[in-house]
Amino acid sequence: MAKPLRIAILGAGGLGKGMVQRVGLSPDFKTVAIVDRDAYLFDPAGLSYEAVQNLKHVKDHQDGIPSLQPIKDLFQTHADEIDVVFVALPNLPVTFIPDVIRMIATETPFRGVMVDALKRTSAVERVLELDELLQSRQILYITGAGATPGFLSTVAAVAAQSFVEVTGVDIRFGVGIAHWSAYRATVREDFIHLPGFDAERVAAMSDAEIEAELEQRNGIIELVNMEHADDIILELAGICRKEQVTVGGIVDTRNAKKPVSTQVTIFGRTAAGVEAKHVMTLDDASTMVDNVCGPALGFLRTGYRNYCKAHYGVLTSADLIPRGPVETRAMASV
Ligand code: NAD
Repeated sequence: MAKPLRIAILGAGGLGKGMVQRVGLSPDFKTVAIVDRDAYLFDPAGLSYEAVQNLKHVKDHQDGIPSLQPIKDLFQTHADEIDVVFVALPNLPVTFIPDVIRMIATETPFRGVMVDALKRTSAVERVLELDELLQSRQILYITGAGATPGFLSTVAAVAAQSFVEVTGVDIRFGVGIAHWSAYRATVREDFIHLPGFDAERVAAMSDAEIEAELEQRNGIIELVNMEHADDIILELAGICRKEQVTVGGIVDTRNAKKPVSTQVTIFGRTAAGVEAKHVMTLDDASTMVDNVCGPALGFLRTGYRNYCKAHYGVLTSADLIPRGPVETRAMASV
């Protein structure tokens, strides 16, 4: 078996910890680092899910290194011990993640592959602007590689191929989480799309104010016509125009059971001129960890193979098909 890819996880919230859990079930990866707002943890032998699962803050771990700039410190100290990176940071403001990527590229010696699970179109557009810089620094960056965009937009891009013309793509997601505090950044970002809210207002809201808003809604957030990067990613992949992509969903912040099933529908015309649609429904048993972290690892596998062939710069998730672990292990013995 080849050596596992050494992954650093930026963000130690719901998705960051979920990725540690998922990596623990994927022998071709090893979590060597996790970072939050004020500390980082690095262990070349590998971090277990048990070690981070109940940590409120990374600095609470006995080996946590407190820092005012933990991401920079991690990459300045350990860049050559990290192969791939999963970005699970808040996307508020929309410039935050692009600024972090620029900092890693210009102020640390890191070379390797990075993926994010960005959702908003305006954030993905900013990441795409970093293409030249990341090419020059020998970093391969895959943006929009979570569930939506990522998993679902890739499904749409593949399913679209049977149609002569695609007339629309509709993504409806259902998310159930036991308590909103497990995924604070995700829930805050969802609030931006509600009538009467925007990024500035949500950024200024305290956790208590978010709780009060959730209380009024019985814990349910219903989202329609969201600004979601599935649109630009499918347009860049030549599937359809971005105006033809719609995204919405229902999030229950008080119940791990999904309020509705997640579904992607691809509308189009067949060669015989018939209006048709393909529909893919995710099993309700699959969680955010399954549908975001699993595909992100798949994109990292493909990305790492491309990186080894000296492909650098920014790609979207629709430029790649995520790989599974089996062939990766077989390839290792070649
Ligand atoms: P969270 O609030 O649970 O965790 C965020 C983490 O980032 C925390 O550990 C926090 O300490 C850390 N952090 C904040 N500022 C930091 C800084 N300056 N330096 C280092 N660490 C910092 O977030 P979450 O709910 O896990 O969401 C993470 C991201 O994933 C969000 O951007 C969200 O929109 C995205 N997401 C994407 C999808 C998808 O399908 N594409 C689905 C769910 C969530």
